[in-house]
Formats: sequence, C-alpha cells, structure tokens
Amino acid sequence: AAEARQFKYVILGGGVAAGYAAREFAKQGVNPGELAIISKEPVAPYERPALSKGYLFPQNAARLPGFHTCVGSGGERLLPEWYSEKGIELILSTEIVKADLASKTLTSATGATFTYEILLIATGSSVIKLTDFGVQGAESNNILYLRDIADADKLVAAMQAKKDGKAVIVGGGYIGLELSAALKINNFDVTMVYPEPWCMPRLFTSGIAHFYEGYYANKGIKIVKGTVAVGFDADANGDVTAAKLKDGRVLEADIVIVGVGGRPLTALFKGQVADEKGGLKTDAFFETSVPGVYAIGDVATFPMKLYNEQRRVEHVDHARKSAEQAVRVIKAKESGESVAEYDYLPYFYSRSFDVAWQFYGDNVGDDVLFGDNDPASAKPKFGSYWVKDGKVVGVFLEGGSAEENQAIARVARAQPAVADVEALKQEGLEFAAKV
Ligand code: FAD
Repeated sequence: AAEARQFKYVILGGGVAAGYAAREFAKQGVNPGELAIISKEPVAPYERPALSKGYLFPQNAARLPGFHTCVGSGGERLLPEWYSEKGIELILSTEIVKADLASKTLTSATGATFTYEILLIATGSSVIKLTDFGVQGAESNNILYLRDIADADKLVAAMQAKKDGKAVIVGGGYIGLELSAALKINNFDVTMVYPEPWCMPRLFTSGIAHFYEGYYANKGIKIVKGTVAVGFDADANGDVTAAKLKDGRVLEADIVIVGVGGRPLTALFKGQVADEKGGLKTDAFFETSVPGVYAIGDVATFPMKLYNEQRRVEHVDHARKSAEQAVRVIKAKESGESVAEYDYLPYFYSRSFDVAWQFYGDNVGDDVLFGDNDPASAKPKFGSYWVKDGKVVGVFLEGGSAEENQAIARVARAQPAVADVEALKQEGLEFAAKV
C-alpha cells in the first residue's frame, strides 16, 4: 500500500519561503516529527536568486551546499543535517498532485498521502514557456528556462557543450538581464530580444534603463528591442540553430534562454481557497480563506498595509519575511498571544557584471532621476525617486553603499514630503541621507 503519513505542520514546497519557515519553527519551538517539508525538488531549500548569479560563474561557481537557506539574508546555512537534528522531515523529490483541504490531505504523484493540522502553501512560481503558446520550434534542444537547480544544471551543461557560441536571450526582465550578463561572462556572443521600448519596464524608467542598456552594450551585448521571437530553427539533432523574430530578422543561436515571466503555482487549490490577483488571498497573517491553511511567498496575495491594497510580490525578501510572519502567527495562536499585522516595505534588487541596484517602496507617480547615469562612467552612481501626491514613495539606487541603501529604504518607509521636485533632483542622494 502507498505510504500514509501524519504531521502537525506541513509546508508544501521546498523553496525560499519553506527554508525560512523551517528556521522560524525551530526558533519558536517544534517537537521532532511535528513538521514536514514536502518538495518536488531533490534538495533541501536553497536561496533561489543564486541560480541566475553565482551558480553560472565560469570560475568558483556557487554550488550546494553553499547556498542553502538561510545564508541569503546573512543567517546560518540550514544543511540537510540541520533538519534531521531538529526532527524536521524533508520529504524530497515528491510532487503533490492533489490537495484536499476538507480532509486535510495531500496526495503525491506516487499515491502517498500526507495529512496535516496546519498547512503552509509555499509552492512558488513556475516559468511561462514558449511551448505554452505553441511557438514554432520552441521544443528544440537548448531552448532553456531557469527556475530551479535542474534548470540551472541544464544551462551549465549547454554552456559546456556550446562553448564560445551564440546565445539569444528572450525577455528583458530580471532573468533576461542577469542571464545575458552570465552568458557574456562565459564568453558567449549574446543578443537580447524584447518587445518593450526599454528593459525592465515594470520597474525601470527610461532614464534608468538608458544606463543599463548602454552598460550592456559596452560589454558587447547586442540588444534588439520592439520585437519578439516567433519561431526557431534546429539542426538534425534537434539542437536550436536560430531564433526567428517577428520583424523578419533571424539570429543565429546555439543557446536560447527564455525569461518571459512566471505564474504562481496555485492550481491545486482552485475552488478551495479564495484567490485574488492571481494568487491565494490571505489576511495580514497569511492565513487564507480556509482556517489553518496559510499561503506564503510568491503565491500569496496579501494586504500591503503601507499602500492599503492587496498585492502579490515575487521577490525573495518577501518570501523570507512572509514565512517568518506566518510561523510566528501559528505559534502565537497556540499560546494565545498576538502578532502585529504584516507591514511590508517592498524591496527588490539585482546585480550583474559590476553593477548592483536596490529599490524600495512603490514606483508610482512622477519619477525624478538624479546622479550620473552615463553608462560610460568609471563609477556609475545614480537613482530615481518616485513622487506621488507630494511625497516620495519609492527610491531606486545604483551603486549605493550599505549605508546609502539603508537611507533610501528609510525614505520609502517614511514617505517625506517634497515641495520642489527640481530641488530634489539637484539634491539627489543628499535628500535621502537627511531622512
Ligand atoms: P520558490 O522558492 O520557488 O519555492 C517553491 C517550491 O515549491 C519549489 O521547491 C518547488 O519545487 C516546490 N513545489 C511547487 N509545487 C509543488 C508541488 N505540487 N509539490 C511539491 N513541491 C512543489 N528575487 C529577488 O528578490 N531578487 C533576485 O535577485 C531574484 N533572483 C531570482 C533568480 C531566479 C533564477 C529565480 C527563478 C527567481 C529569482 N527571484 C529573485 C525570485 C525569488 O527567488 C522568489 O520570489 C522566491 O524564490 C519565492 O519563494 P517561494 O518559497 O515562494 O517559491
């Protein structure tokens, strides 16, 4: 008969949120055998952002166990042994294919069942694939995506097999920008393709993008904007050889990397949990519409107190903090204590080559570019404020020190008033230093 196991707490998913939740459970006190993490990945939770950065370095690449959670936020690394010492079960290589919240039962692809009293849903996101839209030739070899270690290993193998070859990067978001840099550092001839007028349009203003596009061009990366890949050619082995663009251009390609976005993995809960904005709707304590069922990380649509709005956030900082909040809430309920509402300040970051930026707050209202955004600068340092209703609500900074990044975070949280936008532009980072 298939295995049937029972736990007090089950975390479904073994990514960033799961790792930070496990650490918080251990901190709050959990008895051996009470908690299980069920993950379809074969490894213990790790810091996913490493996959598009250190994991792809040509030398001294990051490898597990080096970046298991919780090193990403400066904490202690939780090795598989840590989980066994704490009596936390890591149930790996196990995909849950059915969740019945009424009977509190999860069923795996092999028919094993897991029952729980409290469930934390931490299934994260899956990547959108070109095959989802039936793009011609999209199933060819070496058209790659990046979400987990298995994807990253495929990419590393492809870079070995196609040494010094040509790479086409489809998409101009986080993955597109970080992967273009990674492939360039690995000596590939890199071309980026995206339909928008500039990269990362959901966050970057044209002034911000001006810097990164110029910086990438100076590194030898070609950028093709305003068009999309509509098909691919392959050789007799099925290996991709070219990407065909909508505008008629054909780009030779030995490797294609597609980064066109993700989708939260919520299908298991359709019709069982209230949803909103593509995610599972939660309260300020990450509890869903089903009592005892929590959603954390990428899948949660939660009240963002600062902006008085339900939002979903696909970033690692929120994955960590939402996990900690949910576990504190679960443990506080057991002891009759209370926990303050989640009060999240959005924080996004990225780095590639020698550049690194941070963003805090909300990118709405009028943007005010400051500093030197010349891509040819020896030490580029610039940023942008966003001003809404006379208040600074968001700040972006390239090349900031730790102290300066803390200053922009304070600004985004405090939302200071600005009387004169032109003066703010002149003052630049000085303004933040005074808040
Ligand atoms: P995940 O970390 O994705 O974990 C979800 C887990 O659930 C996975 O282990 C998955 O296999 C498992 N799972 C899903 N469904 C099932 C199922 N049915 N059964 C069993 N297991 C299941 N954010 C930043 O802020 N900065 C960055 O620089 C950055 N870089 C990134 C780079 C890459 C390559 C990627 C993919 C993401 C990056 N992100 C970054 C986003 C960040 O990693 C995510 O927001 C974060 O991982 C979300 O955590 P999570 O726990 O919700 O989901």
